[in-house]
Amino acid sequence: MYKCSVDRMKDLINTFSQFGATGDGGITRYELSEASIMARTEFKKRMEEIGATVEIDDLACMYATLPGTDPKAKRIVMGSHCDSVRNGGNYDGILGVMGAMEALTTVAKDKIAHKHPLTAMIWTNEEGSLYPPAMMVSGIITNDYLPPAIAKNFQFDNMMKSVSVVDKTTTFGEQLAKYPFIGDKANRITPDKYKAMFELHIEQGPILEDAGNEVGVVDCVLGMFNYRVKFFGQAAHAGTFPMAKRKDALFAAAQALIHIHTEVDKLGRPELVYTTGEIVCHPCVHTVIPDYIDFSIDCRHEDPEVRAKVMAILEDVAKKEWAGCRCEIEEKWQRDTVYFNETLFNYVKTSAEELGLKHQVIHSGAGHDAQFCNYMMPTTMIFVRSKDGLSHCEPEYSSPEDCTAGASVMLNAVLKADSE
Ligand SMILES: [Zn+2]
Repeated sequence: MYKCSVDRMKDLINTFSQFGATGDGGITRYELSEASIMARTEFKKRMEEIGATVEIDDLACMYATLPGTDPKAKRIVMGSHCDSVRNGGNYDGILGVMGAMEALTTVAKDKIAHKHPLTAMIWTNEEGSLYPPAMMVSGIITNDYLPPAIAKNFQFDNMMKSVSVVDKTTTFGEQLAKYPFIGDKANRITPDKYKAMFELHIEQGPILEDAGNEVGVVDCVLGMFNYRVKFFGQAAHAGTFPMAKRKDALFAAAQALIHIHTEVDKLGRPELVYTTGEIVCHPCVHTVIPDYIDFSIDCRHEDPEVRAKVMAILEDVAKKEWAGCRCEIEEKWQRDTVYFNETLFNYVKTSAEELGLKHQVIHSGAGHDAQFCNYMMPTTMIFVRSKDGLSHCEPEYSSPEDCTAGASVMLNAVLKADSE
């Protein structure tokens, strides 16, 4: 069994935490920003120092490769993203890049023999926090392999037109054209050149920590759906219109939301998660009774039958009147549970066992580049535990020891795939 270095991992964490540092312990590192250039410059420098060749594709994804003994063998790749959400933490995404760098560094320094070329990769714009949507570039690269209902949301031309949420003017395509890390489309990850993909990531939830486990062997990314629930009322003056005659769309929505929670909770599935995170109010003026509300419902569960039961509750809600207001629902999108490659999953599980790490099988509730890549080639993920289950915020933390354990599991799993 090969072990990665905790000291080198500490150095990587300290170094990358500076690029886009907010001063409050976290980072804001939007894709294609100055901070992202710093992170990529460091990636290139360190990977060239260990003798890797760095290539870049037309979407700014970066690939650092150490050759193997068989020049005809396909590459095995490890990677994740280096962008963050606004005021995010020092681990989401970048851990998968640092873990890949550390695994390659261990291979180079310990002169570990391998047949296949081994690659550390940066996937561009996973968060999509400046240029939406999330998982934009993995959605473009794997587009031909995705189910059509998902593929249509990641068309190259449309993605290039994605507008900055900050200046509301610059497009992703314009910024990409000016970016220093841009290369050839021929360098993109493809199944004829790559054999398998591994993504190390923080769990972003409390399951591993609560169970006292260091590492998660990820079997799938949960299926989910996204609906809008809409309420149509009547606008009128807040001071003159009597309560008894009102059709207040916000009051209607509030009642319906409580009803949805009550009914979904009655399903008795504690592993089911559902969220209303977005609400639109019209006209959103304090002197006017709202005539229109819509809110989002994001629902995630492995089993399609459980998701169908939640959909049935929403359909039932749409059939009723709420506080005198008509209700409609609209499906925005849905996707099935994505199961990772069984062989790679077993390599990860065996590696965790052989390293003597406390581990468990775990589902991913969040989306990742690996989930799209899995449609294109054998792919899997490794999780390390997150302190207090926190992520997408500045206190996000995983210990250097856990981060290194995750990198070691990935390295040994990669070497098992290499010897196949
Ligand atoms: Zn991530």
